[in-house]
Amino acid sequence: MSYEEAFPEELRRYYRNIFGGEAEEIMASLRTPVEKYYIRVNTLKTSREKLIRILRREGLKPKRSPYLEEGIYFEREGPNFDDDYQPGLKKVVANKFAAESVYQGAMLYAPGVLNADRKIRPGDEVEIRDPKGFLVGIGTAKMSGEEMIRKMRGLAVEVTLPKFKLPSLSELESFKEGLFYAQSLPSMVVARVLEPSEEDLIIDMAAAPGGKTSHISQLMQNRGEIIAIDKSKNRLRKMEEELNRLGVKNVRLVRMDSRKLPELGIRADKILLDAPCTALGIRPKLWESRTPKDILATARYQRAFIWAAIKSLRRDGILVYSTCTISYEENEANVKYMLEKGMKLEEQNVFIASPGIDLPGVQRFYPNRHLTQGFFIAKLRKVRQ
Ligand code: SAM
Repeated sequence: MSYEEAFPEELRRYYRNIFGGEAEEIMASLRTPVEKYYIRVNTLKTSREKLIRILRREGLKPKRSPYLEEGIYFEREGPNFDDDYQPGLKKVVANKFAAESVYQGAMLYAPGVLNADRKIRPGDEVEIRDPKGFLVGIGTAKMSGEEMIRKMRGLAVEVTLPKFKLPSLSELESFKEGLFYAQSLPSMVVARVLEPSEEDLIIDMAAAPGGKTSHISQLMQNRGEIIAIDKSKNRLRKMEEELNRLGVKNVRLVRMDSRKLPELGIRADKILLDAPCTALGIRPKLWESRTPKDILATARYQRAFIWAAIKSLRRDGILVYSTCTISYEENEANVKYMLEKGMKLEEQNVFIASPGIDLPGVQRFYPNRHLTQGFFIAKLRKVRQ
């Protein structure tokens, strides 16, 4: 499958419209995992130098981010075979989620198996494909083909040659001790750009699972207070676990629809709106299913959050707006809407990507240029009540 088949025709046309000749390169990048896989040092518990020593002892090859002192990255391995490689082995078909994990070096567990050759016996070498037939890895069967389909738990295939390999970190002692949080580089820039201080009343309007909230907390040295809102009970539960693991103590979790924030009558000094979005910038995507229609609907949904954010900011308060998507409507067009509603663009203290489309004061991460997720960050000040 080529990347041309991996994106709906309308979306490819949309990308060509906004990115011109760069569209093809962007789509090709989106199909591969990030070249540099980042984690954030939890400075509430350790320092970068200490963590680097620990990770080396744990068998990894950590490198220091040149951009952020709390950033560490690992180089991606691969591709380990070409797109047209045909190993000719017995086949296991994984669901899209499991296939995307194998594609980056994870093992394949039975719940992720959609179908398998009934002749597979434990010990056989097998090829793993996604539901559209795309080869994501090769491995050794740990169960028969029939068991892989039937069983709801257990290792189905030990993946020995994934297409790419990123480090797997969640089993490490240093992870369990809360010494770091796996977070992309652009996501880390967001909390930096917010420039939180202990005196600020800060609201995070779409907070779970807590990546940016916990970063803000560490920049505030666990002092002051952050109100972290999300509407999803499950994601808030996960966030609570994460905050405990990281030792974050200055966060009040609130479950509500953030579009109703003004009803609380709070006037915040700083608001982070890491908006729910079409996530078109997330890598890797074996294939994308969203279309321009989803972009327009999501951009409309985001405007309700923007309105609520502006209402809940004090005069001169700061709003940082971010998304992990690359569309124009969810990013620059929404910022232009904010400019009509009494907001003014502010300079960003960490600016390591490209200016926006027709809007120089915002920051756009391109997967092909910056070798990161596709991402967007804007910083604004409320100049009118
Ligand atoms: N900021 C988070 C982080 O860094 O870990 C990621 C947030 S994710 C991009 C967007 C979040 O918005 C999701 O957790 C989702 O549950 C939440 N969300 C979606 N609609 C919402 C609503 N109406 N009110 C509050 N939260 C909402």
